[in-house]
This record gives sequence, C-alpha cells and structure tokens, in this order.
Amino acid sequence: MKVPFLNLKAQYDSIAHEVEQSIREVLSTCAFSGGPYVQKFEEEFASFCGCKWAVGVGSGTDALWLALLGLGVQPGDEVITVPNSFIATAEAISLCGAQPVFIDVGEDSFTMNPALLEQAISPRTRAIIPVHLYGQAADMDAILAIADRHGIPVVEDACQAHGAEYKGRRAGSMGIAGCFSFYPGKNLGAYGEAGCVVTKDEDLAKKLRMLRDHGQSQKYYHQLVGINGRMDGIQGAVLSAKLKYLDSWNAFRRTHASFYQEALAEVRALRIPKEMPYAKHVYHVFAVRSPDREGLKQALNASGVECGVHYPVPIHLQQAYAGRGEGEGSFPVAERVAKELLSLPMFPELTTEQVSYICDQIKRFH
Ligand SMILES: *Cc1c(COP(=O)(O)O)cnc(C)c1O
Repeated sequence: MKVPFLNLKAQYDSIAHEVEQSIREVLSTCAFSGGPYVQKFEEEFASFCGCKWAVGVGSGTDALWLALLGLGVQPGDEVITVPNSFIATAEAISLCGAQPVFIDVGEDSFTMNPALLEQAISPRTRAIIPVHLYGQAADMDAILAIADRHGIPVVEDACQAHGAEYKGRRAGSMGIAGCFSFYPGKNLGAYGEAGCVVTKDEDLAKKLRMLRDHGQSQKYYHQLVGINGRMDGIQGAVLSAKLKYLDSWNAFRRTHASFYQEALAEVRALRIPKEMPYAKHVYHVFAVRSPDREGLKQALNASGVECGVHYPVPIHLQQAYAGRGEGEGSFPVAERVAKELLSLPMFPELTTEQVSYICDQIKRFH
C-alpha cells in the first residue's frame, strides 16, 4: 500500500468548487494585495482564536518578525526560545538584529521547559517565544507567570497550532501576540504563502498594520521603517473558505492520532506522543521516538509509507548559527529527540486502512 506523508490534493478536491469561486471573486474585483478579502479573513480568524485583532501578513516568518519589531526588539536585545523548532523562529529574532537565547525542552512535551526559563532571563531579554510544536501548546501558565514577574512579553509561535488549546484557551490568544503560518502543509494552509499575527492589544495591532505596509497608515506617509509584509487577496479568500472546515479537519487528525496511540501502545521500543493534561493537541505532526529511527524510516519507506523528520538538526547546531559556542551537549533533550523522532503520515484525509497498515508495518519492524 502507498501512503503519502501529506495529501494536499485530496483536501483540494473536497472543496475545489468553493475555493475556485472565492478566487474568481478576488480576480473579478482585482483586490490582489490586502483589501476586503484579507480583512474578512482577519475578522474570522481573530474570532476563531478568541482574540480581538488579527493582522494578515505574507508568511509565518513575517508574522514572527513583525511581532518582534512591533514590540521594539532591536540590536543588542535577547529573545528566549527553543532550539527544536523550524529555523524561522530563530530567524525572526536574528532579522531584528537581536540574539536568540535557547533553552531546552521537556522530554514528553517537546516544548519549552519552564523550569529553565528564569535562569535564562537577563537585563537584555525583550521577549520570550514558546513554540507550540507539532500542534500542542507549550505550558503557558508556567511560562506566563515567570514572564509577567519580569515584565517580559510572550509571543507564541503558533505556526503549527491552529485551533490547539491550552486549558480551554486557543493557541495564539495567551501571549501579547500569537503568530501563525498558512504555508500549504499547515493545519490551515493557503494556496501560496501567508501568515497572521493575532493579539488582544489594539495599539500593537495598529502598529503591526503599519509595519506590514512599509510603516505607513496613509499612502506614502511613512511613520515607521517597515517591510512589504502584506497578505495576498487570493490567500485571504482561500483561507476564509477553508477556515470553516478547520475544526472538523483537526478532529480527523485527533481520531487518527488516537488510532496510532492505541495500536502502537504495545510496541515497547517506541515512545508515542502524549497529549499533556493541559492540552488539546491538533497533531500537525505525529512523531514517534524510535531508538533506530533510520532503520524504521527505511522499513516504512520500503513498504510504501512516506515519513518525515521534524527536525534532523536543532537550530543551535545548524551552520547558520555556528560560532555561538553552543556545540553538541548544549541542549541534551532537543539533541536526543532530533536523533530519535520520526513523523508518521498525518493529514485529515488519511483512511483507517492506511493508519492501520502503517501500524502493522511498525510492529513488524520493532
Ligand atoms: C512553518 C513554521 C514557521 C514559518 O512559517 P512560514 O509561513 O513558512 O514562514 C515558523 N515557526 C514554525 C514552528 C513553523 O512550523
């Protein structure tokens, strides 16, 4: 049996008519950059996240970068985050001219270990970015308690966590700002590049609207140095059409995750992802830990199952971040999981037969 890692085509086919109609509307009104379709999506997504404001931008990377710029992060500042994320989390910090300060993650959660946070705070710390990795929120109460005590804003990297919850609160709604990516493979994916910042802070929302549009609030009168970070009209329309389905798509992911969890519980060599007691996980990625990750990957590939690795190299060991003096051994948990994690196929349109087949192949190997 062939099982792809992702199947964007299956989802597109299920909503093609609706999406094509939305795109045609944008074409016929020529609202290509920003405009009414982006504004409509911003209102819908803000309400989905339980936030007052949403600012549509060009990508998840822009969302993180603009959120930090909006908070005034600048050269000489430090921003605390984790080393086991997609590189964009660190890049956003570096693009402000600031230094990422990494702290290690929890062994079961793969998210920021709050016990390590306080000791990483310095007089230069200007923000903290927990990453809701794989679709599960970081331990936000513990992180926010420390951040609040020091008066440091928390920016959530919710790029993998559309619709995830922490003690009933939606990912993105807990910090001063929540950053989302709508890269096509994300739980809510555009048909191109797009991203968004959600916030309850009206002043920050106003500043972000200016920063994403060259620092202007009136055309050609520039109050700030900003960037071209606007969302495309077509992406706004596509995202509006797709947002209606997000909760049900996430529910399918959770069903597949339960199937994997039950079927693989008996495989003693594997560590299966856990839903933390505080979390509602939306399984952007379903990653198991195997002592023989490469062997398992090859066996699955040989039986037609595509897998992924998120991520093979932690950020502090990437060439782009070499020269910071953080070699092997700096962040033991992040380094260990980078060697052991294997992401299994996970998308709403997977069938029970496919998930069951994958589990059988894993049991044959381990
Ligand atoms: C996808 C992702 C980003 C970046 O989003 P883009 O839209 O690709 O720029 C940032 N952080 C995390 C954790 C991501 O998964």
